[in-house]
Amino acid sequence: MIELVAAERCIACDKCIDVCPTDVFDRGVDGVPVLARHQDCQTCFQCEANCPVDALFVSPLTTRDPGVGDIESVTRSGLLGSYRARIGWGAGRTPGARVGVGPALGPDSVAIIS
Ligand code: SF4
Ligand code: SF4
Repeated sequence: MIELVAAERCIACDKCIDVCPTDVFDRGVDGVPVLARHQDCQTCFQCEANCPVDALFVSPLTTRDPGVGDIESVTRSGLLGSYRARIGWGAGRTPGARVGVGPALGPDSVAIIS
């Protein structure tokens, strides 16, 4: 589920708003997207994958992740745009069309990156 938008990184390009299949975002008055219909998120990662400045973080869980901290801790831990980086989208990255990325399937599993 989409967890947050880093407003200080956002360049108000509207790409996340355009690609979201369930219309989760509204455009804020300053152009920064607002999570207006958070509960409609389908965890498809398209918004994060398409954000050109890595301003979004989508958790692999289908509900809000209580373990995700505030914007400072998410930025510090490198989670912003981390899915986009794994699939190789963005300048200077290695395209990863053959890389599977998915959540851990149980408490003793690790995230799928194959
Ligand atoms: S993960 Fe998909 S459904 Fe959820 S906000 Fe992003 S684009 Fe919309
Ligand atoms: S795609 Fe990224 S930069 Fe563009 S509006 Fe959305 S959060 Fe802002």
